[in-house]
Amino acid sequence: MTCADVDRLLSEGTPIAELKQIAAVSDHLRTCGRCDELLRWAESPSPDPALGSEAAARVRTLIHADLKPVRPLPSTPAVVTGAIAFAVAMAGLHMLTLGAQGWRALSLVQSLSLGALFAAIVILAALSLNVTLRPAALIRPCARAASSAPSRLRFPGGLPL
Ligand SMILES: [Zn+2]
Repeated sequence: MTCADVDRLLSEGTPIAELKQIAAVSDHLRTCGRCDELLRWAESPSPDPALGSEAAARVRTLIHADLKPVRPLPSTPAVVTGAIAFAVAMAGLHMLTLGAQGWRALSLVQSLSLGALFAAIVILAALSLNVTLRPAALIRPCARAASSAPSRLRFPGGLPL
């Protein structure tokens, strides 16, 4: 029996009482102070991880001093409305600086297609940002879709890609 054998037996989770009953281990412990000390340490109860009341109060005070008040997030319709208002404002600023000649060159179908695409991107981005920002809003695919195609990617709202 060597120190490495004792280490291996300990790492395999052999109980200390069982280890001491092995004759080879007992013989080794009589001559090896390191392993004897190691087994005594392993047998000793672990220190109580609980904080004393004074230390707990100090930690609580530090945590409370670090807290900052939060305000509730706006509702999803408010976030989407805000994103649309922001996009309209940005488009308005671009029209003021660059003009709107490009829209006049497009046909009605082209204008509607680009407008719908732009609106869809703004709404989806707002919904995605909203879900990402909400701490309790986990992205969970609906149960029916998860059982049929668990590895498929989904939009944050649960819509399939
Ligand atoms: Zn040893």
